[in-house]
Amino acid sequence: MNNKRKSSFKPDDTTYSEQFNDINLGSESGYKLRPKIVKPQHVSIIGGGIASACAAYALTKQGIKVTLYCKDSSLAQGASSNAIGALYPLLHQQEDDISLFYQQAFWRAKALYTEVSQQGFDFPHSWCGLLEIAYKESLEKRQEKFAKLATWPATLIHKINAKQASKIANITLNNGGLFMPNAGWISPPLLVKQMINAAKATGKLTVKTNVLVNKIEQVQAIKEQTSNDITKKEKNHWRLLTNKGDFYARVLVVCGGAEVINIDFIKQLPFTSVQGQITSMKTNSKINALSTVICHKGYLTPSSSTSQHQGIHCIGATFKKNNTSTIATKADDEFNLNMLSSCLPELAKKINWTEQDISASKARLRCMTPDHIPMVGAMPDIQKHIKTYPHLAKDKNWKYNQAAPVINNLYVMMGFGARGLCSAPLAADILTADLCGTPYPVNKEMLFNLSPNRFVIRDIIRRKYNK
Ligand SMILES: Cc1cc2nc3c(=O)[nH]c(=O)nc-3n(C[C@H](O)[C@H](O)[C@H](O)COP(=O)(O)OP(=O)(O)OC[C@H]3O[C@@H](n4cnc5c(N)ncnc54)[C@H](O)[C@@H]3O)c2cc1C
Repeated sequence: MNNKRKSSFKPDDTTYSEQFNDINLGSESGYKLRPKIVKPQHVSIIGGGIASACAAYALTKQGIKVTLYCKDSSLAQGASSNAIGALYPLLHQQEDDISLFYQQAFWRAKALYTEVSQQGFDFPHSWCGLLEIAYKESLEKRQEKFAKLATWPATLIHKINAKQASKIANITLNNGGLFMPNAGWISPPLLVKQMINAAKATGKLTVKTNVLVNKIEQVQAIKEQTSNDITKKEKNHWRLLTNKGDFYARVLVVCGGAEVINIDFIKQLPFTSVQGQITSMKTNSKINALSTVICHKGYLTPSSSTSQHQGIHCIGATFKKNNTSTIATKADDEFNLNMLSSCLPELAKKINWTEQDISASKARLRCMTPDHIPMVGAMPDIQKHIKTYPHLAKDKNWKYNQAAPVINNLYVMMGFGARGLCSAPLAADILTADLCGTPYPVNKEMLFNLSPNRFVIRDIIRRKYNK
């Protein structure tokens, strides 16, 4: 049961399963080890949204050449295409795994987006804060408890009363709430485009649009002694079968969001898709002064300053499982308007929005994971996991030294749910650490909480495979 730790491979000959990163396992099991890779010269990404933009930016900054394949005619046409998105962490009362991840991810996202903007790749955004308004009594009580526990620093979140909330929001509000002073809103599609521009400025990024990847196949790696005979194609590890012919990749990262969850290999992971619609509303004199993002059951953003969405507030959003349509409906616009009216009746009455005030609607798909934490890392070999760690079904604490078996050269960075703006930058740093050997930005517990193999291990422990 001992790990093999050989060091016999050469640059660009990535035999992952024999080498693992430097996490000190201590009393932990080997399935938490992440495969080590010699820094690749080239990485291919399937995607086009915020996840791909963060990955491409981070990898090109490390000197890696990146090719991005996107099925649409331009970038950010999937979930990252909303006119306005809120940047804020998901925080619970206690320091649980989810909150710890999102608070770290939040600060990283803010620092990264500020860095990109300061490099001259600016995009519409405002760090105007975000108010989780206490729109009902039970929520007020929960928020009081939240504030009393003071788990998080005030710079991240603190309680304010209705008077303070009205001052911050610049409109009269009847309720206070939990305020996140460093949060705000962003135009996701313009952020994606500028991050891609910043990555292109390194001279290392190629973007191929209108390329729909239908299938991915592993190409057998050929041994070095036959290298004189082999073609370039045969040397590569992945074949991408697309509407534009075949492309080859040595290292492949899948960042395709909800639309790619049924593709080969990835379909073995427990991603699901949840459809959501947001509605863009024309501003009026009763709401145009709003100066912070308000979250109730849904959200209401300040009016955007972008030329594309001048004077537009976004309201939303719907959550529909088992619906993969990206066609916006009138019924869902109504739902969004009704949600605002039922949570904030006085404000909704004052604004008096009707269907005529709708300027646009958009339905897109969120890519979810069962535990609301994204997945980033090597694609696990699930069958080999089942064979390697059988005793976990009898004793979940059984210690195995064997490192997690993976599908060589295939990486996943997906499952950003309803918080991709917050979580994608930290996930990209972890991907970079996996591929470049840079230090991991999170501790080993958090690394495993983000690892794509965590669900296979959970299922072995739950005896899913014994049935
Ligand atoms: C209604 C709604 C409201 C939201 N509000 C917020 C918010 O306020 N704040 C927040 O942080 N998050 C919000 N989210 C979530 C956020 O939008 C997502 O988490 C984020 O956009 C996911 O980014 P992504 O890059 O993983 O996926 P996407 O943005 O969906 O990008 C996937 C890309 O992959 C490409 N692609 C897919 N399949 C293929 C293929 N086979 N071949 C080639 N290319 C392919 C697509 O063209 C697309 O460009 C919201 C989502 C929705 C739906």
